Amino acid sequence: MPVRVEIRAAFGGVRFKCQRCGSCCHHRRPREFDDLIPPERMAEFLEKSNLIYLTERDIDAISKKTGLDPQEFVDTLYEDRRGSVMVEEGGKKVILDLPVMRSREPDGSCVFFQEGRGCTIYPVRPTACRLFPFVVVEKSGPAGAIVLEIGYNPTCPGIGEGKGPERKRLEKLVAGQFAERMGSVGAQVQRLRMEGKIHPEARIYRTMPGRRRRPG
Ligand code: SF4
Ligand code: SF4
Repeated sequence: MPVRVEIRAAFGGVRFKCQRCGSCCHHRRPREFDDLIPPERMAEFLEKSNLIYLTERDIDAISKKTGLDPQEFVDTLYEDRRGSVMVEEGGKKVILDLPVMRSREPDGSCVFFQEGRGCTIYPVRPTACRLFPFVVVEKSGPAGAIVLEIGYNPTCPGIGEGKGPERKRLEKLVAGQFAERMGSVGAQVQRLRMEGKIHPEARIYRTMPGRRRRPG
């Protein structure tokens, strides 16, 4: 049976107008999290971080526009950057290694951000950037449904300015981003299941992209 996906706007009557401060182009990575984020801590992780998640389409569009190899701007925890699903412990652990935008150290700014100029790939910026300061938190709904709750990041200085967001546009972006991610991850999970590599009671983890895997 297909999983029901519901998109829920949870931003009330908030107003927003971008102040072009560039804070959202600096990617916070909360250090207190381990390399693998267990599902029960995912919401907390999302609340504390502002990493820019990339879909396959984002990666292809940026690569085409800039002529860069994805490895120059895609950050993940694992070395194999195009294999985003891995299994360990006899198939009991399924790891989703979701790609995010690479950032520069030490300030954590996006590799495409230039002081005084802003985003240098604006026409092909990722969906996550188009959404910001609105962010999506994935929750479980009744009967196994997936709820994509659209909230907002209150630290954005544009919050409280201008007018209300275009709700339909946000919902369309969120639906597209989710469909794309599930499409690519789903196909890999299916292949691994068919190859008998995933245990029926496997637990799913997500990596914390950009951190090195601990040796051993
Ligand atoms: S979306 Fe918010 S944080 Fe980003 S540039 Fe605009 S005002 Fe600044
Ligand atoms: S892609 Fe552009 S808008 Fe997105 S974080 Fe990088 S510089 Fe900012």
